[in-house]
Amino acid sequence: MNTWLINLLAFAGTYLVMEFVAWSNHKYIMHGPGWILHKSHHEERKSIFEWNDLYFVFYAAVSMTLVYFGWENLDYRFWMGCGVAAYGLTYFLLHDVFIHGRAKFLRSLRSDYFDAMRRAHRAHHKTITKHGAVEFGLLLFNRKWKEIIRRNKRMKHPVSPN
Ligand SMILES: [Zn+2]
Ligand SMILES: [Zn+2]
Repeated sequence: MNTWLINLLAFAGTYLVMEFVAWSNHKYIMHGPGWILHKSHHEERKSIFEWNDLYFVFYAAVSMTLVYFGWENLDYRFWMGCGVAAYGLTYFLLHDVFIHGRAKFLRSLRSDYFDAMRRAHRAHHKTITKHGAVEFGLLLFNRKWKEIIRRNKRMKHPVSPN
């Protein structure tokens, strides 16, 4: 196989797999034994940082380790590290900035997909305890949220019968 194809697959594959990793980590670790850190994200934020941010540090360390080992030949490990970093950046921009408003941009981001994503994540935050939460992923969520967004839109802007 072509080297560039392997690198492309390493990057894109890692990016996609990261959604699954983030989902399972959120569901089984963060809402399990890792709740001690994640709890801070389900409570009202008291400062600009929360204990939950340490999970970012963990993923950054994974990314940097891969980049470190792949650096010399810019091989698949380098591109896997970039995939983890790119997913981390996406997560930060959509989850922390767009949904939770930790910085004052991306406020006008609008589409059925992004609206549904925010709605799904708000549903996750309905619970302030370790148990009973829904929607642990970010980019992938139950399709019902998109349907709810669309239905609300139709109610606000009804299509004229002719
Ligand atoms: Zn959670
Ligand atoms: Zn959140």
